Amino acid sequence: MNEKLCNVALAVPLRTTFTYKVPERLAAEIQPGSRVVVPFRKKSLVGVVTEWAAQGPPDAKLREVQKCLDVIPALTKNLLDLGQWISSYYVAPIGEVYRAMLPPLMELRAQQIVRITELGRSASASLLGEIEAKPALLQKLESANDGVPLQTALRSGVALGDLLKLQRRGLVEILQQIQTRKRRAQRIIAWRSSGTDAPVSSEKEARLRDMLLLQRGALPLTQLLKLGSVSRAFVERLLREGKLEAWEETLDPAEDPFDVGYTLNPEQEHAFSAIRARFELGEFGVQLLHGVTGSGKTEIYMRAVQDTLARGKTAIVLVPEIALTLWMGRQCRAWFGARFEGVAVLHSALSDIERAREWWRVRNGEARVIVGTRSAIFAPAEKLGLVIVDEEQESSYKQEETPRYHGRDVAIVRAKLENALALLGSATPSLETFHHARSGKYELLSLAQRVAERSLPTVEILDLREEFRQTHQTSPISSRLQQAIQESLNFQTQALILINRRGYSWSVICRSCGATVQCANCSISMTHHKNRNRLECHYCGSVQPIPKNCHKCDSKYVYFFGEGSEQLEERLRKEFPKARIARLDRDTARTKRQYQETLGAFADGALDILVGTQMLAKGHDFHRVTLVGVISADSSLTMPDFRAAERTFQLMTQVAGRAGRGELPGRVLIQTFYPEHYAIQDAIKQDYVAFYERELHYRQVMAYPPFTSLANVIVRDSNLEKAITWSRELSQFLAPHNGEGIRVLGPASAPLARLKTEYRFQFLLKSKRKAQLTKILSGVLAYCDKKEIPQTAVLVDMDPLQLL
Ligand SMILES: [Zn+2]
Ligand SMILES: [Zn+2]
Repeated sequence: MNEKLCNVALAVPLRTTFTYKVPERLAAEIQPGSRVVVPFRKKSLVGVVTEWAAQGPPDAKLREVQKCLDVIPALTKNLLDLGQWISSYYVAPIGEVYRAMLPPLMELRAQQIVRITELGRSASASLLGEIEAKPALLQKLESANDGVPLQTALRSGVALGDLLKLQRRGLVEILQQIQTRKRRAQRIIAWRSSGTDAPVSSEKEARLRDMLLLQRGALPLTQLLKLGSVSRAFVERLLREGKLEAWEETLDPAEDPFDVGYTLNPEQEHAFSAIRARFELGEFGVQLLHGVTGSGKTEIYMRAVQDTLARGKTAIVLVPEIALTLWMGRQCRAWFGARFEGVAVLHSALSDIERAREWWRVRNGEARVIVGTRSAIFAPAEKLGLVIVDEEQESSYKQEETPRYHGRDVAIVRAKLENALALLGSATPSLETFHHARSGKYELLSLAQRVAERSLPTVEILDLREEFRQTHQTSPISSRLQQAIQESLNFQTQALILINRRGYSWSVICRSCGATVQCANCSISMTHHKNRNRLECHYCGSVQPIPKNCHKCDSKYVYFFGEGSEQLEERLRKEFPKARIARLDRDTARTKRQYQETLGAFADGALDILVGTQMLAKGHDFHRVTLVGVISADSSLTMPDFRAAERTFQLMTQVAGRAGRGELPGRVLIQTFYPEHYAIQDAIKQDYVAFYERELHYRQVMAYPPFTSLANVIVRDSNLEKAITWSRELSQFLAPHNGEGIRVLGPASAPLARLKTEYRFQFLLKSKRKAQLTKILSGVLAYCDKKEIPQTAVLVDMDPLQLL
């Protein structure tokens, strides 16, 4: 008799799958995509069945699968294929890739439910009888709308294999349900649809009806009161009259208040009809929605999602930050009606059980819109019609640990596998994406104007060299910025002040001998944190006491140099003692709640000045911000990275875009030592295309992306000798490839030559052909195996965003 065999991917750092025997008792359940428990060495591990196997490796004694965790395979066929692509393109171990795609293991609180489908009902009892289902079970299934627990069904005598056959024919569905705690509830108000024809007795009532029926859908009571400018008593009266209805719905305490416009201007209309035309084609495509800050991209996203749902398909919306998932999830619920439960939110800050619950809601087809960060691209949605990647240029889409992948690029591959549309949105697209749009590979949709005819803010530059010549002051706040802040306080509007470093001072130096205080583990300066009264390394987190004397020459002239956000806040408090000031950076916003509270206080007008790092540049509409100040635009410009200009331009444009989003016009002041740099000049003019063209020219001359593809290979070890030996060995493998369509640079000391106690050497590979790079990278790993260089010592990064 032929044995049934399957290949299983396990989350071990090996680039291969393992073959196991499928025992007879599990034969009906196991399918490609199922999670299984298998023996591995002396342990039991959970893995994913990737495919059936014709035969195992020769001379191997095969072991048996112990258990199957899924009645319905956790991963769909398309997700299995996507995982294969990621594994080969990014040279990542297949088991690690699938682990990143799977829900958390939540077996204890999961329950499987069998439910009869509409098709099953209409197919009549005879059909079910055909497979010997017990009549009692059939009756139970027909009467229980919420379905019957799988265990109950099996106890009634029906075989699992038979149930699965019914499931495949669409007669029953088997759902995985995760029990969770009840959450706090809020009251949702809707216009009763049977009351549509009832006469409205006032203009106010008509306005409310239009809002609830036509424009927004059902709304939480608190929002309805605010948006509709009506009193609670008025709403209660309409509820009594039966014109409105109300229900309770769970509340996410971290959610933000929101505000979304609902009519599209001609430009938005034009972009949206292009998206719709794409849907009509019903095939894979990529569109770039390039819209200036405040041009109303979200409204277009919402309509695109709505259109997708109307076509019976599902949509994934990726956002770059967790805080934005809450905001975007809220937008979706508001847009599609609060009663619409088809929105799932997926991000890493959810508890395991919440994440498992949301994941299975998607897998069961209960949630059809998925909002989330990077890894939500793996949401197991079927019939995917649309993937939106908002702020596609954001580096948070890149995962910087195994499996290293870029969420935006994976989104495009997934859209291709699913025949869906990928919609990338940005005010400052990455060079790569805009290059594809210009060359016609992607379709370009532009929004050049802000909504409601708001004007873009005026941007001024402040030359810090000139300032110093005139004032000889060393304050990080120039006199012009000082004046502008004072004006904003006088007019009772708000100011955002951006500084690119956190902490108090970012360098400690001895005036006598010039020695600096470096991290003991990394080749980087320690940052002084005054409140915490210590020095911290921002790379490895190690701390040191503040030195009284120089560690080298023992001189007492230890000097703290370079302002960080903590110091800036202190200075602002000194100069504007009456202003209400808060700081937002990774030190003050350690939790989601702190972050939300500070932003909320600012949005509500409880603060006058908000100072912080680039966290400020993202996110929400602040309607009373009239001034944005940038303390030093240069710190990001001088980084040893070919993307430095692009990052600076993006940051400047984004932060400038925070100003003047309400009725009041905005003003932006950028302080810099390099006023003539094109990244700064083009940011002042807010001219993306001009910047793009200059930067593209530089990339072409220097042979950087998008003209060539890059791969970064780092050899690392805490023992310097070993790191050197291994990088020499690797050089012997790589050097002969130099010139065959590939350039090999290195080995050289990495820009961060030591990190977390490890010495680091770098090879940079450049090629015009991605496939060639991928091939040589897998060669690198095979060579390392042969030479017994440990896998942990070699880090391979395809399409790196950082070269540090
Ligand atoms: Zn010294
Ligand atoms: Zn360190």
